Order: sequence, then structure tokens, then C-alpha cells
Amino acid sequence: MGRHLPTSGGLRKTLALAEEQGCEALQVFVSNPQGWAEPMVRDDAEAFVEGARKIGISPGVAHAKYLINLASPREDLRENSMRALAAELVAAGELGLDLVVVHAGSHGGDGEEKGVDRLVEGLERARELAGNSGRAAEAVVENSVGAGTQLCSTFDVLGEVSRRAGVRVCVDTAHAFVAGHDLAVPGGPRLVAAELRAALGEAVALLHLNDAKNELGSHRDGHRKVGEGLIPEASWTELFAALPGVPLVMETPYETPEADAEEVRRVKRLAGGLRKTADEG
Ligand SMILES: [Zn+2]
Ligand SMILES: [Zn+2]
Repeated sequence: MGRHLPTSGGLRKTLALAEEQGCEALQVFVSNPQGWAEPMVRDDAEAFVEGARKIGISPGVAHAKYLINLASPREDLRENSMRALAAELVAAGELGLDLVVVHAGSHGGDGEEKGVDRLVEGLERARELAGNSGRAAEAVVENSVGAGTQLCSTFDVLGEVSRRAGVRVCVDTAHAFVAGHDLAVPGGPRLVAAELRAALGEAVALLHLNDAKNELGSHRDGHRKVGEGLIPEASWTELFAALPGVPLVMETPYETPEADAEEVRRVKRLAGGLRKTADEG
């Protein structure tokens, strides 16, 4: 398990933070998530690849730009999104990262069916383009909160995209909760995990482990530190037991490095005694 970590102090600092906080996985941005600028070539890339290998980071994850909308009704936006995702797959691959999480996007009023068609096509084209230029990371699609015309707030639609585009997915627990999946009641996490497995099988590559700031079914995003939001601590233990072996990355608000490290320890306590995977012995 790990956290989303800043890269502003350089990638060596990112790795130092990961180690200090007891992270075995990590997530970073490889470009400005709010702008279209392409990922920069970093002179600390090699040090990062080596350092991450040495401390055993797995998986290494990049979160793609928030601007990307492969399902947009606007052709120019779809084209920019496809190229931006391809560039991030390549940049993440060059940093030795395994996964790139991309949002499912919004159909913008054209309807879910058309939106899903566009998303599937965009994912296929981005992977093709990235595949042509060397080593690329794996794109995984994240579930949404289902605000407005956002796609993939239900596991069924996420499953359809996964099957048709041949991609795995990232499930954000805060998004799932505000989209209407009740993780807060006893037995809820087990049920949600069963639904997830029915819709996606083995295609869940990653959990974004975030506590929810807003109510069940509110469709309003907002992350809290694990244990400080609307999902009780017992729910996490139940969820981990129902989804063994799925890596997780927290995207909860940064506090002091000490408070962040305490959150990692808390989650490890909640997952205590569980085997990481069946074959890791
Ligand atoms: Zn996200
Ligand atoms: Zn997320």
C-alpha cells in the first residue's frame, strides 16, 4: 500500500517520502494535471527508476491529467485527450511506473452509449500511439462519482469499458461511496466487493483508498483521511478481507509527513494479518 506523493522537491525526495512513510506503492503526476503541457524529461528519472527498484515500489502509479476526456462530444478535445494520455503512458513507462490512472470522462449530453463508444476508441488509440514509441505503462480507468454526465460511476459500465477496451480499472472508494455504493454499513463492503467481482472479475488493478467527505449518493467528490470521513474503520478491514491482493494507494489530503505516515500505519493495522497475495507466501 502507498500514497499519492508530491514530486515538487524532485523525484529523489518523492522516494525518500515513500520510504519514511512506509509506502510499498506510490502514485505521482508525471505532468501538470491541470494543463495540457506534455510531461517533461526529468534529469532525475534514472535515479528514480533505480531508487524505486531498490526500495521495492510496486506498483508505481501515475495519475493522468484531469483535463483528459476521451468521451467528449468535441472532436478536438478527444484528440488532445488521446494524445495527452499516450504521452503520459510513455512518460510513466520511462520512469518505470506500472500503471496510469485515467478518468472515464463525460459524455457531455450525448448519452452514455455514445460516451462509452468514444471512451473505448480513445483508450485503444492512445495505447496504440504509446505502443509505437517504446516502453509504455498500462492505462487503467477510474470509476467516477457520477456527477452530471460523467461515465463509469456504476461497476456495470466500468465493466463494459474494461471488457470492450481490454483495460483494467482503478476503483476509488470515496467515488464509489458518493456514487451510491454503501461502504459504511456492516456487510456493505463485502457486498460492494462481490458486485465489483461480478462486474469486473480480475480486472481491478488498483484501489484508490480514500475516505469520503460527502454523503452516500451525493455524487460530490471530496476525500478525507482514512478514519476521518463517513466510512467507519471496521469497513476497511471488511473490504480488505473481501479483496485480497489488490494494491492500494491513498489520495487523502496531505498533512505533516508524520500525520501522513500515521495514516499509512493505521491502514496497515486495519489490514493486519491479511496476506498480500496468495502466491507471495
Ligand atoms: Zn482520479
Ligand atoms: Zn481517485
